[in-house]
Amino acid sequence: MALDIKSRKPLIIAGPCSAETREQTLSTMRALAATGRVNVLRAGVWKPRTKPGMFEGVGVEALPWLVEARERTGLPIAIEVANTRHVESALEYGIDMLWIGARTTSNPFSTQEVAEALRGTDTPVLVKNPMSADLELWVGAVERLQKCDVKNLGLIHRGFSGYGSSEYRNMPMWHIPLEIKRRLPELPILCDPSHICGNRVHLFDVAQQAADLDFNGVMLESHYSPDTAWSDAAQQVTPDAFAEIIDRIQWRASESQSLAYQSSIDELRSTIDRLDKEIFDLLARRMEAADSIGRIKRDNNVMILQSGRWSDVVERMQARATALGLSHEFVNTVLEAIHIESITHQNRIMREE
Ligand code: PEP
Ligand code: MN
Repeated sequence: MALDIKSRKPLIIAGPCSAETREQTLSTMRALAATGRVNVLRAGVWKPRTKPGMFEGVGVEALPWLVEARERTGLPIAIEVANTRHVESALEYGIDMLWIGARTTSNPFSTQEVAEALRGTDTPVLVKNPMSADLELWVGAVERLQKCDVKNLGLIHRGFSGYGSSEYRNMPMWHIPLEIKRRLPELPILCDPSHICGNRVHLFDVAQQAADLDFNGVMLESHYSPDTAWSDAAQQVTPDAFAEIIDRIQWRASESQSLAYQSSIDELRSTIDRLDKEIFDLLARRMEAADSIGRIKRDNNVMILQSGRWSDVVERMQARATALGLSHEFVNTVLEAIHIESITHQNRIMREE
């Protein structure tokens, strides 16, 4: 019987980044099972590494260790697959759950190959987001699997890579997983705080954020001796530390039946709906003003952009951000969207005779 990934909430997957040795795999997985907080054990068997010469996983030799871990713990096992050979070996060993890694989701040739190798399977397959913040590429990978009749699909949010340093190894950009949840509401979605954080510091915060955004569970990397791990050492935690994180996460209810709750929420939601309408009415009026400016510029043969003027607008609004209780980043994002729309309007006007 294939594992039911939809009905278990929270679904907790944990295990080492990589299966390194039989001893490390079994010790880690038995310790994790002993915490009583794990539903599925994970380990990477083939590791996609940035540079050649890094530890690239043990390969098929690790599969019997995982089968043994399943026998000893009674827990299902999940591994990453990235090509036909991986899928064939995983199915041959009866691996219970598979995931498609971020680098594979990034490449349509690879997702197509994996989808075809998995054709018709009811083994659960979780699709990680691609490396870049490309929602359509993520949806596309899911569609390729659906077209190959892969029946039991889910998603994993593991953050998006960016250039330069940040407090995250991969930026969460929560709006992207929230949008894919809206587009594919029938798919359960897990969060992978380990690959988002790249360290141990914010694992709990990211996991709690996911729980508060109605994710179905988490995947966390755990190793019996994290500092000596052969891959992703900085982000792995001991089974005990893993259990502490899981125990702290609050999985709150998605609704409450209390009448007081219902009536205050209803009132506040109607305030929000009214304000949203006002915001968009105002934006429409702002665009009308931009259209009129566009006509004057066209008639006077003046170009659309006056950089100095735009910098003044941004500076003026940024100066008010703190007093308004808004982050600078938010103010920038909103202004950028408004600016792009104004330019699109004025471009259209320039082309009108
Ligand atoms: C992993 O889960 O170990 C892994 C390689 O993750 P990602 O594809 O998210 O980088
Ligand atoms: Mn890893």
